[in-house]
Amino acid sequence: MILVTGGAGYIGSHTVKELMKSGYEVVVLDNLSQGHPEAVLTPHFEQVDLNDKEAIREVFKKYPIKSVIHFAAFSLVGESNVFPHKYFNNNTKNTLQLLDIMVESGVLNFVFSSTCSIYGNPEYTPLDEKHPSQPINAYAESKRMVENILEYYDKAYALKSVRLRYFNACGADLDGQIGESHDPETHLIPLALKVAKGEKPHLSIFGTDYPTPDGTCIRDYIHVTDLADAHIKALEYLQAGSGESITLNLGTGTGYSVKEIIETCREITGHPIPTVEIARRAGDPSVLVAQSQLVKEKLNWIPQFSSLKTIIQSAWQWETNKRF
Ligand code: UDP
Repeated sequence: MILVTGGAGYIGSHTVKELMKSGYEVVVLDNLSQGHPEAVLTPHFEQVDLNDKEAIREVFKKYPIKSVIHFAAFSLVGESNVFPHKYFNNNTKNTLQLLDIMVESGVLNFVFSSTCSIYGNPEYTPLDEKHPSQPINAYAESKRMVENILEYYDKAYALKSVRLRYFNACGADLDGQIGESHDPETHLIPLALKVAKGEKPHLSIFGTDYPTPDGTCIRDYIHVTDLADAHIKALEYLQAGSGESITLNLGTGTGYSVKEIIETCREITGHPIPTVEIARRAGDPSVLVAQSQLVKEKLNWIPQFSSLKTIIQSAWQWETNKRF
């Protein structure tokens, strides 16, 4: 059985869906502070806070857990700098506690949600995994600390991990069963689609003076089902037992500008999507694009749904037929 923390959240729920399609038994642990009960697709659900050590110990006693995929975390960059305690406490300290319970229970396979923001301001692009890790916000630092802890836990306790550094997760389940539903919503694609729907009057473009061809930021957008698939391949890599712990970028290797994203949203939805150009958002590097060779080599992973068209079509289908 696979324990998925944060399995009621956006990436977590899509991963649970793919795990179950592949025949795995899954138990979801989530406190529902940000996740949605409707997004929990397994009958095995434990509403537990990551802070609650005893309750987590009980979960490990109750189920025959073989591996853990750990999504549960706070992930708002701006908020993390205002309330760093919240991020270090939950994302770092509570993860350390989870790792200790794993070691104590003899569960030694761990797939970890890390982030490309760990690289800070890129010194070169595309970013490979060897790029220095130099976080510029508490969220990224809280994740880097766990990556470092995992190095030591591997050497001392043989806890093997795959650390997946996500680029921009987006899109929705192609069946329309689950999708992205954040409150507040801060991400570009769902916000653009809310404007298309008429839920918001306009979309703000954060900065048009970046050193990029059209002046707006470039990001590497990856469909959430492709992300989910990489987690299953990471799990299989660990469960095969022959591999070393690894850190992998999870991006497609292709970048799109904010303006290109908005234009594709206009084409797909048929709505005008009015925009307002405002100042840069603090902490946004101009270009974040993955060198994604290593994940392809190590996990034999090939993105299937990450064309911009499929990403935005699936997100639009979800936005207009949301279940939660
Ligand atoms: N962005 C924007 N307007 C918005 C939200 C985002 O111009 O209302 C830009 C943001 O500056 C970044 C890109 O869109 O360059 C993607 O931002 P998002 O918040 O979706 O993901 P992030 O890159 O922060 O993980």
